[in-house]
Amino acid sequence: MKKASKKNNLQSKKSPTKQYVFAFGRKTDGNSQMRELLGGKGANLAEMASIGLPVPPGFTISTEVCNYFYNHERSYPKQLLKDVETGVRRIEIQLGKNFGAPENPLLVSVRSGARDSMPGMMDTILNLGLNDQTVVGLSKSSGNPRFAWDCYRRFIQMYGDVVMGVQARNEEEEEPFHKELEKLKGSLGVSADTELTTENLKTLVHRYKALIKKRTRSVFPQDVMQQLWGAIGAVFGSWKNERAILYRQEYGIPAEWGTAVNIQSMVFGNTGDDSGTGVAFTRDPANGEKIFYGEYLINAQGEDVVAGVRTPQPIQKMAKTLPKSFKDLEKVRIKLERHFRDMQDFEFTIENGRLFILQTRNGKRTGLAAVRIAVEMQKERLMSQKDALLKIPAESIDSLLVPIFDPKALKAAAVIGHGLPAGPGAATGRIAFTAANAEIETRKGNKVVLCRTETSPDDLKGMLLSQGILTSRGGVSSHAALVARQLGKVCVCGAGDVVINYEKRTLKSGKVTLKEGDYISIDGSTGAIYKGMIESADSDVKRVLEGKLRPTSSYTFSLFETVMKWADRQRSLKIRTNADTPTMARQAVSFGAEGIGLCRTEHMFFDGDRINFMRQMILAVDEVQRRSALKKLLPFQKKDFVGLFKEMNGRPVTIRLLDPPLHEFLPQDDVVRRQLAEKLGVPFDFVIDRIKALHEENPMLGCRGCRLGILYPEITEMQTRAIFEAAAQVQKGKKRIKVNPEIMIPLVGFQEELADQLRIVHRVAKEVMKVRKVRISYIVGTMIEVPRAAITADEIAKEADFFSFGTNDLTQTTLGLSRDDMGLFYDEYQRKEIYHKNPFASLDKTGVGKLVNYASYKGRQTKPGLKLGICGEHAGDPSSIDFCHKAELNYVSCSPPRVPVARLAAAQAKLRDTQ
Ligand code: PEP
Ligand code: MG
Repeated sequence: MKKASKKNNLQSKKSPTKQYVFAFGRKTDGNSQMRELLGGKGANLAEMASIGLPVPPGFTISTEVCNYFYNHERSYPKQLLKDVETGVRRIEIQLGKNFGAPENPLLVSVRSGARDSMPGMMDTILNLGLNDQTVVGLSKSSGNPRFAWDCYRRFIQMYGDVVMGVQARNEEEEEPFHKELEKLKGSLGVSADTELTTENLKTLVHRYKALIKKRTRSVFPQDVMQQLWGAIGAVFGSWKNERAILYRQEYGIPAEWGTAVNIQSMVFGNTGDDSGTGVAFTRDPANGEKIFYGEYLINAQGEDVVAGVRTPQPIQKMAKTLPKSFKDLEKVRIKLERHFRDMQDFEFTIENGRLFILQTRNGKRTGLAAVRIAVEMQKERLMSQKDALLKIPAESIDSLLVPIFDPKALKAAAVIGHGLPAGPGAATGRIAFTAANAEIETRKGNKVVLCRTETSPDDLKGMLLSQGILTSRGGVSSHAALVARQLGKVCVCGAGDVVINYEKRTLKSGKVTLKEGDYISIDGSTGAIYKGMIESADSDVKRVLEGKLRPTSSYTFSLFETVMKWADRQRSLKIRTNADTPTMARQAVSFGAEGIGLCRTEHMFFDGDRINFMRQMILAVDEVQRRSALKKLLPFQKKDFVGLFKEMNGRPVTIRLLDPPLHEFLPQDDVVRRQLAEKLGVPFDFVIDRIKALHEENPMLGCRGCRLGILYPEITEMQTRAIFEAAAQVQKGKKRIKVNPEIMIPLVGFQEELADQLRIVHRVAKEVMKVRKVRISYIVGTMIEVPRAAITADEIAKEADFFSFGTNDLTQTTLGLSRDDMGLFYDEYQRKEIYHKNPFASLDKTGVGKLVNYASYKGRQTKPGLKLGICGEHAGDPSSIDFCHKAELNYVSCSPPRVPVARLAAAQAKLRDTQ
């Protein structure tokens, strides 16, 4: 082994002696439980080595070093130099090879590995340790000079790209090493890489080095330890590259986790026709079926499969081409699943007929596959019911509910090609050939399908914004397929029929040529590609729930039902819904809602004539005018409440009194203002004057919420009357449905505000019950939406029967951040990782969350039985639901389609809590 080069940036910082380097191989220091320290890849390599799987030896530099690296200006703990040298030495002894030696040289790979896998987001370097001398040594030791020079040119290419930054300078530019390769092949008149001779590869090495020199003014390093430290620095550095940051934001991975770096001896899948490499899944990651699924390439290295450069063969074909290796692989498949008790996604290499496993991890899967695998593995007794529940990302349930193409529309559609089905569902949109164009189109409000020959991690943003992804190259484990599955995006990949020409901006399939911006549709469940836009239709699950399909005719529905039953058995949080119409309520109940947690009464006034009566009420100059408008609104309100109560059939219904920022109701346009004046029989100028008089600089913090009812008590009166009249009618109706209204006062900040409104509610309730001769059991509570309400919750609780946290407004008012205006700076805040997640989508637990906890505690101090719920958008977000469970709320109330996700998330929160 050569001595370390002076160039590495080791510094003599004080640090305690602790273990930073963990070996795997003959001696193994770690295991699968050590993900935090070793990252997922490192921990599983250690685990596989200790259960006797054929893992090439190596070592892992821990995630603690990554944090040290960023906290100390990209330097390392002092002892790391020695630890890495010892790690390399240990590999040398095990394999009888030497790092940097001209005879029988040791080559290694250097790879990232975070606690949760972040496929393709960080950097990897293979074949490290090759230089002008060791390439000759490798030629001799392998007896295969062509192979040695092929490794060398691959290494220079990767190192030049990842460590030295020789890359395409914009989206249109071709990757520079690839361009050199193609140029050489063109001049030689060959089309496949495998046709290049040893001499050709030597030429390529020469050209690659010249390219690096020209672009960086530095020479490609010959010192192998310098190479190693360069690669280690690049991999740690890639933890903070743009795509890794974007990925972390999407999946809520904290920057503090850091990545580990794995250094592992190389084995070679490119030594000839009894060698190969591949990626396999122990079950089908697209639909969850229990079949051996994957692909491989003969005579190739790993990155060829993942990069989608050559389209690989399905794994089943290997039974014929390499039967012994296939049998070995089958055994590994079974052993991995039994040991890790989850579907595994593993990489393997066969070197001259000998199988090696390079990594394993729990396989990324579509939502449908996640559900199916969990249910079937529980049946196979590979996991308990509780573990199965925890294995399903709560969001996955959504993919069982997403639309599919409308069967009628599909019949009329023209199929123009086929690819591999890699992410199920139906997607339709305008063709975008670049991530940048996908962004531009979606900003205009258009739906897009991102169409690329293959995707790279730089396309992530475009993929996130697209309805679906179509690639013409690459297999089911290509970057496009992996990422799409994880994002829950529809994906068709490796569509050989499709020719994409970036320069001409065309997509050709058979005889059809489409241009950028034309509509295209893809079916990620079948792989079919269609010309034009196709309507989509409801999923099986939805059709069963709506009584349009027999439950027994859908396996997907049985999976859904099983998981929902399991979840309901576990959870303690109740799941309610935010619904304002009987149709929404019906849908929510079919999804499992146990009540309405928020009916926004102002939403009931948007339709037809009501909007004008509502406007008349808002524009009224005095109580007489207002009462006259309210009188017209009353029958509508009452009818709506009757519908809701009937649909909810005895389940609790929380009705919130009027809370609109008034500007939402007033017309902005002079034409509509004129029409309104005519309708109301008032002069146009009157309308204009009133709108001016009502103008507020900041209506979100203006005359809304309980302030409206305090200013105009007749509004509260009318709404209460409508609620109790409706309740009386339903309760005394033919079916005698018991009604449990929960009346909710919005935007309260003072106990007195609530007391004021309560007096009206109780008075009117009493009046109606007396006249209708009926007893309606009701409660009255408040929303907690401003910090003052949270801080004085003990006082407010004296008046309230329940609290419902309106976390949309509570976030707005706590962060001092407008719900409507955060777009301008949001992207930058995310990029700088100031916001880990959008605070309006996922609860800011350390800020807003503290207010929720405090208000709950104080409220229950005053009233131990105080009912607590949440009805902001956060109620449909799994990590916020976890918080709500811990905060001991009674229920979460989310939009109807989120109810199944919330049921599962609530069960998972309880299971995690009791584990
Ligand atoms: C809230 O503020 O969280 C809430 C549910 O009310 P709205 O969104 O109607 O203001
Ligand atoms: Mg609100």
